[in-house]
Order: sequence, then C-alpha cells, then structure tokens
Amino acid sequence: MAVKALKGFKDVVPGDVETWQFIEGMARDILHRFGCAEIKTPILEKTKLFKRSIGETTDIVEKEMYTFADRNGSSLTMRPEGTASVLRAYIENGLYQAKPIQNIYTIGPMFRHERPQKGRLRQFHQISVEVLGTDLPRADAELMAMAALIIEELGLSVSLEINSLGCKKCRPGFNTALLDYLAGIEDLCEDCLRRRETNPLRVLDCKNEQCQAYYKDAPAILDHLCGDCDSHFNAVKSDLDRLDVAYRVNHFMVRGLDYYTRTTFELITGDLGAQSAVGAGGRYDGLVKQLGGPDVPGIGFGMGMERLALLLEQREEKIAPPGVDVFIAALGAKAQDMAFEMCHKLRSSGLFVAMDYQDRALKNQMKQADKAGADFVLILGEDELVKNVGILRNMQSRDQYDVSLGGDLAEWAISLVDMIDKL
Ligand code: ATP
Ligand code: MG
Repeated sequence: MAVKALKGFKDVVPGDVETWQFIEGMARDILHRFGCAEIKTPILEKTKLFKRSIGETTDIVEKEMYTFADRNGSSLTMRPEGTASVLRAYIENGLYQAKPIQNIYTIGPMFRHERPQKGRLRQFHQISVEVLGTDLPRADAELMAMAALIIEELGLSVSLEINSLGCKKCRPGFNTALLDYLAGIEDLCEDCLRRRETNPLRVLDCKNEQCQAYYKDAPAILDHLCGDCDSHFNAVKSDLDRLDVAYRVNHFMVRGLDYYTRTTFELITGDLGAQSAVGAGGRYDGLVKQLGGPDVPGIGFGMGMERLALLLEQREEKIAPPGVDVFIAALGAKAQDMAFEMCHKLRSSGLFVAMDYQDRALKNQMKQADKAGADFVLILGEDELVKNVGILRNMQSRDQYDVSLGGDLAEWAISLVDMIDKL
C-alpha cells in the first residue's frame, strides 16, 4: 500500500498553492512597508527554550509539543510558535546591538500535536512578527494596524479584540481576586480545576459552557490594572482610534502563553466554525531578559496561514495560476526543432513559454494554448517556414500579426518580447 502523509500534516498542491503565494506575497509586501526585516530560524530547538518562554503550565507545553530525544539523548522540540525562536536568535546573534528598535518577521511551519480538524493541523504555518525595543503604546497600535492591514489587503474581514493582562505589579492582585471568586466553585471541568491550582488566569480561556457561565461574573483584569498599565492601555486604544482601526475590548481574553504582559489581541472571524482566531499576539516585556538577553521590551503576533487560505478559498473567485505568455504551435519536424530552440530563448528573455512536443494537429495545439491561458500563440506551420514568417495570434482579440523568423535567434527573441510589450 502507498505510504500516506501523517495525520494533521498536509500537502499544499498546485491549484491551492497560488492562494498561499498570494497570502505570503501580500504579507511580505505590507511587512516591508512597516520596516520589518525577515529572519529564518531553525524549526528544531532545545526543549527548554519553549518551556522557559511559553510556560510549563500552558496547553502548548503540557500537551501539544512535538518533543523527542535525538540520537545523543538531548531533548529537542519542533517549534510550536515563532516568538521564542526569534528571540533566541535575536539574543544569540546580538541583533539588539544593531538598532534600538527592530521589526522582525518570519514565515514558516509550526508544530503542535492537536486533534486535527478544519483550520487545525499538526503542522501549520504562521506569519510571525515581532517589534523589539519599545514599550510605547504607539508600537502596540501600529502592530495591530499592520495585522489588520494584511487582512484587509487580502480582501478579508475579521474583528480585532483587545485586552490588557497587566504586569508583574498588578497581575498578582488580580490572581488573588480571581482565586477568591473561584474558591467556592466545585463543578468546573477537570482542566479548570487543575489550572486553578497551577495557572489561574488560564481558566478564563476555557471553552466549556458550564465553566464559561461561571466566568461571566468573574472579576475583570481591566479593573485590576495598576496606574501605568491602565494609562498604557488607554493610550493604545486612542492610537487605534487615531488610525481608524476598529476593535472591541474583551476582558476575558487571556491567551494561551505565559509570557504575555499588558496588551493582548486576537483577530477573530465568524466564518471558520470553532477555529475562529486567524491571528493573535501580545506584548511580552521581560521575556528577552528572561531568555538571557538584555532588558528589551517587545510585542508580536502570529497569523495562521491555513485559516487565511480557508477564508480565501470560501470566496467564489479562485486565485488562478499565472497564464502562459506565448504558446508556440509548431507543425512538422522542422518547425518543432525551431520552436524547441525558440522556447528556450524566449524563456531566457523573461517570458513564460510553452509548446506541445508531440506535433499534434493545429486545432489540438490551439486548444492546449487556450487551456494554458496563453495570451499569444505563435503559429509555425510548413507555409510559415517556407516564407520565413510566423503568425502571432492575440488569443483575446483574435488579431494576427506577421513575425519574421530569420536572423540570430537571441536577437529575434528580444524583438518578439518588445513586440508583445507594445501590443
Ligand atoms: P487556538 O485558540 O485556535 O488554538 P491559539 O491561541 O493556540 O489558537 P496562537 O498560539 O495564538 O493560537 O497562534 C496564532 C495563530 O496561529 C492562531 O490564531 C491560528 O490562526 C494559528 N494556529 C494556531 N494553532 C494552529 C493549528 N493547530 N492549526 C492551524 N493554525 C493554528
Ligand atoms: Mg491552540
């Protein structure tokens, strides 16, 4: 029996890959407008990098990581998200020495051992962006505006939900208030009972309806922010207003990673069922230092490419692969030889060129040209060879032009490119 791919691991095949290329191209374009530089980091890291940053008592570290011992017995993990690896690289390569504020992004696969379903895979892909070196509220607003612009320019619409998780100073006070509130409640789900002991904030993220009913009246973190965090959050909101970026404050949003401080946000869609988050992120002041680097604040987000692709595929119009510029329809052995050389010369001159090597009838070759979405067909039949003049047909307008065939082939190719440019 044929060997199949792993469960939750998916091929992106021609026909679908064009959507991915569109997403990636658009994202890169916008990221560059915001001065983001690309970084590529390994997908395999020491396990302790993720334990230390994401946190031992998070879903990712507790149950989702692909962790294994390599042949030397070292514990390695396939990266489950982008930030930890990018910060490791930022510190290890001394990137902070180059510029006080840096915008860095990476695009690539992430790995989480979750139950595969629509919009949820075990190997998925993220556009992951970090702004390092500033804790100004303006950086938060700008980063969210950047994420929103990517979505908008892809032709999609999602809503932005924001929250503040406070800082080392105010979070403990909120934790105490939350624990007091949770103290009497016994019929929480198993996960929540456990989280109440290990990581109380995380209970608010529970999807269980019975738990959610209790949490509706739970204390709100926004009521427990210290003065600094409160004015930071207010400034973020007014800068979002200034940029006309719509948002909704959701004080239940706590995010699944321990490193977040202050601003957190999610980009939510109603069109993907349970997998409603297209992107998410937040501020992580203190994380660079915690990972052994200088005390540099930062904020970032990760956007899921599978979910973006699903949203784009739900639209009626498919993103088509690029069409052929010139299809050469050659009839007879001599014309075939000539066309074979022409193809290569035209490709060297920058055109997307195709031909049929099987010397089928003209009607058949015209059909192939049509199917390939050719803009032009160059017809080389026996008559044309005798006259040394080919026929160039504009497939849309049906206009036909004479193309002289003599002389040096490289020069001929350049003049054909010129001619097509002008048509
Ligand atoms: P979810 O609540 O859907 O599990 P998350 O909070 O775990 O999301 P993050 O860690 O914040 O997600 O990752 C950012 C983005 O990456 C998500 O908004 C989503 O678009 C995408 N993502 C996360 N996990 C997966 C997955 N298993 N498959 C596909 N995309 C994913
Ligand atoms: Mg998750």
